[in-house]
Amino acid sequence: MSENARIRQRLIVRGIVQGVGFRPFVYGLATRHGLGGFVGNDSNGVFIEVEGEPAALEAFARDLQAEPPPLALIESVTSMPLPATGETTFVIVASEGQAGASTAISPDVCICDDCLRELFDPADRRYRYPFINCTNCGPRFTIIRDIPYDRPLTTMAAFPMCAACAREYHDPTDRRFHAQPVACPACGPRVWFEAGGRATAWDDDAIRAAQAALRSGRIVAVKGIGGFHLACDATNDDALRTLRRRKGRVDKPFAVMVRDLAAARALAEVDDAEAALLTSKARPIVLLRRRPDARLSALVAPGNAYVGLMLPYSPLHYLLLDGLDMPLVMTSGNLSDEPICKDNDEALRRLASLADGFLLHNRDIHVWCDDSVMRAFEGRELPIRRSRGYTPFPVRLAQPAPMLIATGGELKATFCVTRERFAYLSQHIGDMENLETLQAFERALTHFVKLFRIVPERIVCDLHPGYLSTQWAERFAAAQGLPLVKVQHHHAHIAACLAEHGFDPDARAIGISFDGTGYGSDGAIWGGEVLIANCRTFTRIAHLKYVPLPGGDASIKRPYRAALAHLWAAGIAWDEDLPCVAACPPEERRVLCQQLERNFHCPPTSSMGRLFDAIAALAGVRQTATYEAQAAIELEALCDDAEQGHYEWVSAPSAGGDALVLDPAPIFHGIMRDLHASVSRQAIAAKAHNTIAELIVQVSDHARRQSGLNVVALSGGVFQNVQLLQRALPRLRAAGFEVLTHRAVPPNDGGLALGQAAVGGFRA
Ligand code: ZN
Ligand code: ZN
Ligand code: FE
Repeated sequence: MSENARIRQRLIVRGIVQGVGFRPFVYGLATRHGLGGFVGNDSNGVFIEVEGEPAALEAFARDLQAEPPPLALIESVTSMPLPATGETTFVIVASEGQAGASTAISPDVCICDDCLRELFDPADRRYRYPFINCTNCGPRFTIIRDIPYDRPLTTMAAFPMCAACAREYHDPTDRRFHAQPVACPACGPRVWFEAGGRATAWDDDAIRAAQAALRSGRIVAVKGIGGFHLACDATNDDALRTLRRRKGRVDKPFAVMVRDLAAARALAEVDDAEAALLTSKARPIVLLRRRPDARLSALVAPGNAYVGLMLPYSPLHYLLLDGLDMPLVMTSGNLSDEPICKDNDEALRRLASLADGFLLHNRDIHVWCDDSVMRAFEGRELPIRRSRGYTPFPVRLAQPAPMLIATGGELKATFCVTRERFAYLSQHIGDMENLETLQAFERALTHFVKLFRIVPERIVCDLHPGYLSTQWAERFAAAQGLPLVKVQHHHAHIAACLAEHGFDPDARAIGISFDGTGYGSDGAIWGGEVLIANCRTFTRIAHLKYVPLPGGDASIKRPYRAALAHLWAAGIAWDEDLPCVAACPPEERRVLCQQLERNFHCPPTSSMGRLFDAIAALAGVRQTATYEAQAAIELEALCDDAEQGHYEWVSAPSAGGDALVLDPAPIFHGIMRDLHASVSRQAIAAKAHNTIAELIVQVSDHARRQSGLNVVALSGGVFQNVQLLQRALPRLRAAGFEVLTHRAVPPNDGGLALGQAAVGGFRA
């Protein structure tokens, strides 16, 4: 073929294409097809120029899309013709920063099989090196300071490569070609063990020192990928008691790290979907049904039928668990309610009273990122907490939205920023109830704004005037002169579900939004809401009947108060024999009674979370809670699958006739009858769950008659409850409904910001 037949093209590839071995992949592909040209990263993604015969260019373009590297995700490829220059060699060119541009960034992923093999190969020069990684694995999001993703802009900038590493880094045929965090024992970060205020061991000795401390029941702070863990022997009651006391954590379950899938199966039931989740590159904590014979301290997850297990994800974890014959509690390194520690100095200071020793290293974590928590439902993931391994992977919206910041809720806070069609949900920030968490929110937001080059056109927040996230949004919008959009909490939940399912802004669905607390458009505490909604607006067509809740949200930690409020509303006497009445001190009971009689400090609430609390307390399951939704979680754990019965409720039009009001009073009468008939708590728990499932079908049917809609979206924290999902979905499908549940973001308030972003972005 003559020289004249050569053509040249410029291609722009967007998506997750940086830090995932994309340039070496392009290099290999171009070389294979005999093309000249170059490939490079810029702040938009990857740019390529290729030159050669038309058929070869065509094959190149096809293979580019057909077989990208494992961690890459191509969003789009655009091409434009250029005049041929005669170039016949292909090279990788230096990165170009660009103001205002943006590209997707890979989440942190676990060590790959190749690196794992080398880690335990005595002949390999990275044998037992805790920072082994390659282009297919290792930290990303947590070490990136800015884009483009190149070593100088990561926390690896402090470690100049040795000659051997540099050779691999520059060799296009090597697995470590342009792997930014590449390092080895000669040039890379090191690990050491500190106890009593000084370093006592380095490298492999440090890992052995940490293992020895763990074996003797000590608590060791371990610096990981996204922050510090507090580790201890998960079979040792004394160690767990100490950890709970020091951390100020009474009952809330701890996550456990086990060495492999077989070890997980020894502790919990693991089905195929759960096994896939456990071994996925994101390596989340997976909530699994605990085996009765599990060799685990009862103090790991008291009163819980589930246990959160995860597999090692960093090489350091693999080394720590190697030869250590015990599962390890691995809980975030913080005091309860504080953000997780990520820096050495900070950890040595803040965790001094919590840990007996520290396994530290000198690769800095630029942004913290807690472990993610997942459940499996119907063979798919149901996110409970979406963080490490997922952040900052975007959710793709149905349409481009204006650039905005949605500030989220209060508990399990996250925020969301949008750019074009992408919604970037932040890592888990925590409960935004104190200054530390608000500061963590601001730090994370600053990072996202920089990373994704966000120039917000509007700010979006919850309606609740008391949320720190709302107050921040009000201050920020005022200071920047930006419009502020406030989105009702339960509308945001449903919008989050619709948005992750790619719904057009105008496409409506029936939304069942059940959670603990959200600020209602009428100022009441909502939480048992049925909406007709799209990503712009909503109509509330049904809700739980308002019950006066003395002290409002102050009752969250005392489920017996929710029970007394519901008994009051149902006209059932507070009989001393009832566990929820007995749990309430007489003086408090007297005050509650007065408050209810005078309707003083008794905000009306339609909360489904409080209804679950009340049922759990009345059934004698739990009277006081030490963590959010504890009573509901323990009620869920009790459910007897064989029980098919349910309780009654009453639906009637509201006073104005604009909504259907669902009165749960008959549920309490039914439970009272069952208590007198000595029906088991397991049966009562199952009947309560069946009741809510039946109620969901009935209101959905009502909504369908009103709207003609056939799609039901389930959102809100109540839908973390798998026992409820398992009962509601078959019933809804049998009634002919299409059901949407969460797969990408949590149904709880951790997913709220996505819904806010959708509504804030699409509302005119
Ligand atoms: Zn690797
Ligand atoms: Zn090296
Ligand atoms: Fe909520």
